[in-house]
Amino acid sequence: MKNCLFLIFTLYLFSCTSSTGSETKTSTTPDPKTDTAVAGGKTTGAKVMADAATIISRPQVPILCYHHIRNIQMPGRSDRGYEVTIAQFKAQMKALADSGYHTVLPDQLYQYLVYGTPLPSKPVMLTYDDTDEEQFSIAKPEMDKYGFKGVYFLMTISIGRKNYMTKEQIKQLADEGHAMVSHTWDHHRVDRYKLENTIEERGVKKVVNDWDQQLAKTKQSIEAITGKKVEDFAYPFGIWSKDGIPEIKKRGYRMAFQLSTKRDSTEPLYTIRRMIVSPEWSPEGMIRVMGSTFSRL
Ligand SMILES: [Zn+2]
Repeated sequence: MKNCLFLIFTLYLFSCTSSTGSETKTSTTPDPKTDTAVAGGKTTGAKVMADAATIISRPQVPILCYHHIRNIQMPGRSDRGYEVTIAQFKAQMKALADSGYHTVLPDQLYQYLVYGTPLPSKPVMLTYDDTDEEQFSIAKPEMDKYGFKGVYFLMTISIGRKNYMTKEQIKQLADEGHAMVSHTWDHHRVDRYKLENTIEERGVKKVVNDWDQQLAKTKQSIEAITGKKVEDFAYPFGIWSKDGIPEIKKRGYRMAFQLSTKRDSTEPLYTIRRMIVSPEWSPEGMIRVMGSTFSRL
């Protein structure tokens, strides 16, 4: 019950609010690294990974962030910034398709940013946060109409709870080619993680390293459901911290997604920008804002 109340508190009062991430600059630019590319089972040679400056200089892919897709406003919430109506969502998907957009997945984005691999024309990424059930029952059928694929940032504590997706739904989405990736265990912000923290899980108190609990364990749980690798992460509330990036890397993540603050000049892969879709926008307005938001550095 305590967890449940906490969850309600977290979701309805805070959701994935944008906030200013720390933007400490250092002069350390990582040396270009090499990675071995394998095609058709054969090694084709070492490809050079782009450095941070090259990654930053590539045109950004517009990435949309959705939370609730529903027609009712939850009691107690003072803002509707994290909901779009079902009709709005349908119109937005149609507008993207009519305008020639193609959805891309994290693998494609990574290959593009790191190796310069071309993307389809008019790329866009559709992302869904917090494991809400309608992201399966409403978003999936709409995406199916246009051959779109989504990226689901899952908060694993809520899997199987009322109004959240079940393991079976998550597995089905993964099997159908959507990306099922991490948004922590219980939506705590990363700049407050401790190496030793007391948590309560299924009524039992225990001491955990927050980084392991929120990132490593979540990765394992989602991988156990989908049978696919989890290497991408979205910061709760969009809040990131420079100090946390090495911890995220250590736990096997290749990219991390914030909201719309400035990207870090030395860690662009761990400060990838997204934008929350506002219920105030028309579909055409949304497409215009995509252009302006993702042309900023
Ligand atoms: Zn969230």
